[in-house]
Amino acid sequence: MDPLRSNLLCRAARVEHGFGTRTSLLEQDGFASLRQIHSARWIAAGKPGPAGEGDALITNVAGLGVSVRTADCLPILLADPAKGAVAAVHAGWRGTAARIVAETVDAMQRRYGTRTADLLAAIGPGIGVCCFRVGEDVGRRFGLDGPGVVDLAEENRRQLVEAGVPEPQIDVLAFCTFCDGRFHSFRRDGPRAGRMISFIRAL
Ligand SMILES: [Zn+2]
Repeated sequence: MDPLRSNLLCRAARVEHGFGTRTSLLEQDGFASLRQIHSARWIAAGKPGPAGEGDALITNVAGLGVSVRTADCLPILLADPAKGAVAAVHAGWRGTAARIVAETVDAMQRRYGTRTADLLAAIGPGIGVCCFRVGEDVGRRFGLDGPGVVDLAEENRRQLVEAGVPEPQIDVLAFCTFCDGRFHSFRRDGPRAGRMISFIRAL
């Protein structure tokens, strides 16, 4: 099976991307990668291979792919075709609460001169609102009074809108990794769950 692609990002000139699935063959070899720590820390990547600890990679190096690994957390890919800049973000509930995607947009603005009006964003497969039940502690981080359900994709979509990304330029691939067997799920499969690679690059 091919990796999943966002129709929105597919329309961007000189940008390649993919969201891995359980059966897609994406590997991180040749891409910049992270030791992910559920933070709001981003790193600017200049070459393939491990870039350090953090949860978002940005680059404006032509041809360099940036990648994240997920299984329930959301992979979010950003492209600024005007500046030839891209980003790959790993956003679980901790990273979402820490506003990792908003921090990443801010980093692209400061580092690369990105204008949010030019940004395209695709929120990939992660645990859906159908399945993401949380306890009181996590619920309170998302404005709930107690245990409940959290819509991580919507939380990230809202952060992108608040950052200035036009709503028609945000694509949400509404696949739930927990209840859709095409995906790895940490909550469903436990510590032995595999991970899916998502990547983006500007050519
Ligand atoms: Zn679900």
